[in-house]
Amino acid sequence: MTTLTADTLASRLSEPRLLRHQSYINGAWVEGPRSLVINNPATGEDIAHLADVGAEGARSAVEAAQTAFERWKKVSPYERGKILMRWHDLILAHADDLATILTAEMGKTYREARGEIVYGAAFIEWSAEEAKRIHGETLTPPFPGSRGWTTRAPIGVVACITPWNFPNAMITRKCAPALAAGCTMVIKPAPETPLSALALAELAEEAGVPKGVFNIVCGDAQEIGPVLTGAPEVRMIGFTGSTPVGKLLMRQAADGVKRVALELGGNAPFIIMDDADVDTAAAGIVASKFRVSGQTCVSANRIIAQPGIYDDLLAALKTKVDALKVGDGFAGDTDLGPLIHTQAVERVDGLVRRAVDGGARIVSGGHSLVDELGGAFYAPTLIEGGTPEMDLACFEIFGPVASVYKMDSEAEILRFANDTPYGLAAYLYTRDIGRVHRMTEGLDYGMIGVNAPMVGSAATPFGGVKESGIGREGGKWGVEEFTELKYVLLGGVDT
Ligand code: NAP
Repeated sequence: MTTLTADTLASRLSEPRLLRHQSYINGAWVEGPRSLVINNPATGEDIAHLADVGAEGARSAVEAAQTAFERWKKVSPYERGKILMRWHDLILAHADDLATILTAEMGKTYREARGEIVYGAAFIEWSAEEAKRIHGETLTPPFPGSRGWTTRAPIGVVACITPWNFPNAMITRKCAPALAAGCTMVIKPAPETPLSALALAELAEEAGVPKGVFNIVCGDAQEIGPVLTGAPEVRMIGFTGSTPVGKLLMRQAADGVKRVALELGGNAPFIIMDDADVDTAAAGIVASKFRVSGQTCVSANRIIAQPGIYDDLLAALKTKVDALKVGDGFAGDTDLGPLIHTQAVERVDGLVRRAVDGGARIVSGGHSLVDELGGAFYAPTLIEGGTPEMDLACFEIFGPVASVYKMDSEAEILRFANDTPYGLAAYLYTRDIGRVHRMTEGLDYGMIGVNAPMVGSAATPFGGVKESGIGREGGKWGVEEFTELKYVLLGGVDT
């Protein structure tokens, strides 16, 4: 893998082909009346000015997607699969450039960014292969002389709104299965990270995705959102982001009875039982908690350890947390990049300060590094002694702060773990198979990693319960989300 330095960034970003500054609508690069400024959170520097196409751009993208849908749904699934596979191959061939753009606009380390490109491409590969396997069943209706069958039809135009923390993969995880199923897309990326989305559009065009099938509209969410949720042509809203915005979009979509697929926030418990291997668990916690500087929806938010291993675990965690290197994501030895912006640093610091005021103890870190490093940096932090009532335990931290709680019985741990409106990911470390069954059955979560700190893959269902979302992305479940089940009854067969 190429290791980049900050010095090489300017020349890499001047590579003109993948770095687009316009929206992509109906196969054309479109200017807008206003501009968005894209900022590198590691340095605070502006890296791009981008056209904001607003409500008008969103309306033309929806019209283009509706026109394209009539043709795209009739393209053979084999052909759709081939086009998607070409897109996948082009993405991997340009992985270095895509990772450069991603790190520059979002801040995650270049290693993480490159990992995201490969992860994102895997959804395209999986969906490309699945396109030819989207089929129905034959049924046995109760009427004499009749036959029945089902088909899976593409739902239609899908509007997707995506967040900044995975600017590539949150798009491919939706678009790949949708395009495989025969849907067309209008995507509104996060205003912090549109460049990764536009680079994907450039490669989609090169792969042969026809005009109007894949549209990217950049601009103000307050203008674009209502157009997407209100347009009758849009049959589904796919959203990844915060729970409050997910609820708002669901309310807006209700008027048109549109399908919604929502991947929302989390508050993951990471449970370590007395019988677990402490070093393995500590390594798992660091991998889950500090990936993307803690800015993932599946990040360990409440680390719950039983008394028998608590002290050893805290010591092992302190050693690992103190060794983490914070810095510009382009520096080869960086473990943690910046947060998305300085407001995020202030929010995370506020959670830590309130926890300390409430009696929690900082074991490592616990302070901003904005002044020291000149970007939106926060020190990797380890805290113990918090209580379940603290904001630190009730809200998504979305920053590099590991908070450890000591709890004894399985019942007490389960009560705390489930005492949240969220239900996305949970983690359990134990070597007792009985416990694995009891605890996984008791945890109200959509995904549970047992002795595993990461759960997502292109082949498996990703999604949450309760206020963490509706629907699943990934695997055959992710493809089914973009289809309508159609039933046909044929009478008078045995005349
Ligand atoms: P966010 O504030 O909800 O924003 C997500 C997207 O929604 C952005 O593109 C945003 O654009 C847009 N948006 C906001 N208000 C809108 C409105 N009224 N109408 C239409 N669009 C609107 O979330 P975020 O801060 O970017 O991302 C962090 C959140 O995402 C966390 O809660 C995290 O857990 C969650 N997340 C979940 C998953 C998952 O798979 N479950 C994965 C990744 C992230 P503007 O910024 O322009 O408003």
